[in-house]
Amino acid sequence: MISFDRDYAMTIGGERVNSNETINVINPATGEVFAQAPDCSREQLDEAVMAAQKAFTSWRATSIDERATLLSKAGDVILSKAEELARLFTKEQGRPVEGARNEILMAGNWLKQVSVMRPPVHVSEDSEAQFIQTTYVPIGVVCAIAPWNFPVNLAIWKVAPALLTGNTMVLKPSPFTPLCTLKIGELLQSVLPAGVLNVVSGDDRLGPWMTSHPGFAKISFTGSTETGKKVMESAAADLKALTLELGGNDAAIVLPDVDVDEVAQKIFFGAFFNTAQICVATKRLYVHEDVYDALRDRLAAIAQAVKVGNGAEQGTVLGPIQNQRQYNRVMDLLADAKANSLTLIEGAAIPESKGYFIPVTIVDNPPEDSRVVQEEAFGPVLPMLKFSDVDEVLKRANDSPFGLAGSVWSMDTDAAMKVAERMETGTVWINQALNLRPDTPFSGHKASGFGTENGMDGLLEFMRPKSIYLARG
Ligand code: NAD
Repeated sequence: MISFDRDYAMTIGGERVNSNETINVINPATGEVFAQAPDCSREQLDEAVMAAQKAFTSWRATSIDERATLLSKAGDVILSKAEELARLFTKEQGRPVEGARNEILMAGNWLKQVSVMRPPVHVSEDSEAQFIQTTYVPIGVVCAIAPWNFPVNLAIWKVAPALLTGNTMVLKPSPFTPLCTLKIGELLQSVLPAGVLNVVSGDDRLGPWMTSHPGFAKISFTGSTETGKKVMESAAADLKALTLELGGNDAAIVLPDVDVDEVAQKIFFGAFFNTAQICVATKRLYVHEDVYDALRDRLAAIAQAVKVGNGAEQGTVLGPIQNQRQYNRVMDLLADAKANSLTLIEGAAIPESKGYFIPVTIVDNPPEDSRVVQEEAFGPVLPMLKFSDVDEVLKRANDSPFGLAGSVWSMDTDAAMKVAERMETGTVWINQALNLRPDTPFSGHKASGFGTENGMDGLLEFMRPKSIYLARG
């Protein structure tokens, strides 16, 4: 019987493993330490890599249908513990319980949905002279590193396709949110063979140890662009295969024909869900001058009505910032906005507590070159910018080192499609936001990434093509 509120252990070679040292885990709503997670030693990392290497030999030899059956069962195991995991999720991540539960349910379902995918087989010639076939084979042991904003989903985005295609893995959650991932690692041992999925946790030393470890054949990393560059450098030493999902500074473009009442709620949560700690949240809101004032006032009213607080309390819609480091970054951006006399519109009051709370803040038409527009806030500070011409706004939206996602809002879907096609990002939503699916590629362009997750392109990132030429006759 697994307990969810204590005994957080790593999973190495199918075994529960503790460590001599531990790291503290803080509840961001209270600012207090409420649990300890193992701090993996270098020797334990070696053991995890060796366990994954050993398991790779037999796991890759199983049929994809067998692996799919196990992964679908793994999804069921997660779904069966959704309530326990959701409560733990709120404590460590801060997100209110309903959103926490949705993340766990999505993770379980994601495993089941990915398990039906199959890599293609290409036949380039089937003649009397020769037969040429390309299939896809697994790469080996995958080093998977996840961030703290969607700690479970973004880990499962790696686990599901990597394991389905015959790879094995050592997974590391963020030191800020290790607990649900550790418990999931333990839970899945009831389904997966030992060593197929190993989960380790630790402090800031562990990530670099992993990315430079020669036992990994592939790194799948989600996190900031800054860290992504270090990961790429580290991977170069022995040419590890690499997928990087990095930061963004997504623009939403609101055309003049929108029904403001209809879109305001969707635009608000496209920016502020998860307290705006989403790689694909709207981080620059460009609004046509004809509807600017009306939309600003609607968004300000929603911000006033939304309850910000401890996610464990009923009625809370937005929780705290997940950690002190991120809180300091967002406060620094706000201080810069204040120092430059930008107009700030604040939402509902925040609780008086040691938690990392920041009120929802809309910045009213700041200059394009202000820090709050140019930098990824990753917190509830949204610059709202006025435009009058579509060509001009596209230039401003595209003038960013990032290219993750974006959105267009209009009743004229043809006009919106034309704008979407001109946005230099891997994903664009029209009249919706934050919709991501296992069967659809998610790819950061420019400094937002390297490679793809999800969809067939994402599946094949965990495989290598292998071509066989057979001479006939
Ligand atoms: P981060 O880069 O600080 O950390 C991400 C992970 O990398 C953590 O597990 C961390 O422990 C580990 N890490 C830190 N330094 C490392 C190093 N030198 N080598 C190897 N691993 C290292 O990012 P974060 O603050 O956890 O997450 C926020 C950032 O992630 C934002 O920029 C956000 O946009 C981005 N993000 C991107 C996506 C996406 O899919 N594109 C999704 C979520 C978050």
